[in-house]
Amino acid sequence: METLVRVKVAELLKSKPGKEILVKGWVRTKRGNKNISFVALNDGSTINNIQVVFDMNLFSEDALKPVTTGACIAVKGELVESPGSAQAVEISAKELLLYGTADPETYPLQKKGHSMEFLREIGHLRPRTNTFGAVFRIRHAMAFAIHKYFNDKGFVYLHTPVITASDAEGAGAMFQVTTLDLNNLPRTEDNHIDYQEDFFGRAANLTVSGQLEGELGAMALGEIYTFGPTFRAENSNTPRHLAEFWMIEPEMAFYEIKENMDLAEDFVKYLVKYALDNCADDLKFLNDMFDKELIGRLESVINTEFIRLSYTDGVDILMKSGQKFEYPVSWGTDLQSEHERYLVEQHFKKPVILTDYPKDIKAFYMKQNEDGKTVRAMDVLFPKIGEIIGGSQREESLEKLQQRIEELGMESSGLWWYLDTRRFGSAPHSGFGLGFERLLLFVTGMSNIRDVIPFPRTPKNAEF
Ligand code: ATP
Ligand code: MN
Repeated sequence: METLVRVKVAELLKSKPGKEILVKGWVRTKRGNKNISFVALNDGSTINNIQVVFDMNLFSEDALKPVTTGACIAVKGELVESPGSAQAVEISAKELLLYGTADPETYPLQKKGHSMEFLREIGHLRPRTNTFGAVFRIRHAMAFAIHKYFNDKGFVYLHTPVITASDAEGAGAMFQVTTLDLNNLPRTEDNHIDYQEDFFGRAANLTVSGQLEGELGAMALGEIYTFGPTFRAENSNTPRHLAEFWMIEPEMAFYEIKENMDLAEDFVKYLVKYALDNCADDLKFLNDMFDKELIGRLESVINTEFIRLSYTDGVDILMKSGQKFEYPVSWGTDLQSEHERYLVEQHFKKPVILTDYPKDIKAFYMKQNEDGKTVRAMDVLFPKIGEIIGGSQREESLEKLQQRIEELGMESSGLWWYLDTRRFGSAPHSGFGLGFERLLLFVTGMSNIRDVIPFPRTPKNAEF
């Protein structure tokens, strides 16, 4: 059997009939009678199964008995034209090798149509379902497209650290990293924990954003992007927040907010188009099974110009909407997902880029506007998701930046290296962060962020 080279199902389904092949995969279903058995086999290379036909004159009933849903097999046979209308080709089996059985009494994925909640409980096996196969193939395609997009534009992929000693970004609560013995902490004379004894000689955390380091890269390499895991100890159990998520953060020298918005819009449109062009089978499956408007929504995003609107005008629309919101809205409040979605889904019916937020609800590094009240922030808001991108033009003036740090009562001593970018050869620059899983929620039509990452990390949940 092993003299033949294994061919993946995706390739077999596109091949012409009439040759000897070897296929390996997991059994999705088996049906048939005394004379013939049909096995739908999947190897993860495509949402589609290949049909393997066993002529029971050639195989004993005992040989086929352990070939049940979930079992792993190899089959040698001939690729033939299928008499059925469901597929062009099928395999006429000649030899069977059983790699691993899956006891029908205990294998949890016997039938279709399990709830997403149940599948989360068997997160170690859910990649074997059609749904998660589709989602993770799309996730891969999007990751690849992100690198391709930036590479084609001449951006440099900069690896920013996962462990950081700066807690200045303020983007969210942090996870501490330590090798100290928690049952026997070293103490200073005034009874504080003595971090000089810790691994890095100081307190350290997992990063909440690669932006500050990304800015260092942009001020040398011109245009960079980061794409890595990000950690926020947010205790919010929402369908849009993970404790560990992936973020793409481009940072560009010489871009002002207008170019920043242009890049963000072009970037997400490129990614959505890439998915439509390259993930058609998986998208069609998700469209048919979960969300009949999915493909239509993806197409509409690439064919529409995003609305660009100031926060002040956005709040005006919300206040005049007559809509009852759970959280009241007025100038100066941070927008909740319900407000963002009202603007996108009800009012404009297209993606919105909201700019010039009040400085008090945004981070210290955003460029201050002349009005003394707002900063050059830009959030991209999407249907069904709300905020998918958060970004801004950065404050390039050392003086204004230091003044803002002081106003906010932040500890600037740990930021000396960041402030050096403004001390030496400062320049206008901008950037943004796209939450990878938020993008995937939009592209796959899944409604819970736990279902677009292979191993979700959320409060009280890190088993597999
Ligand atoms: P939100 O208000 O939705 O919590 P944020 O304002 O904290 O988002 P930023 O700090 O601007 O978000 O982060 C940039 C992007 O990272 C967001 O636009 C979003 O796409 C994504 N993001 C932020 N927090 C999370 C999280 N906990 N899980 C998944 N993605 C996230
Ligand atoms: Mn947040």
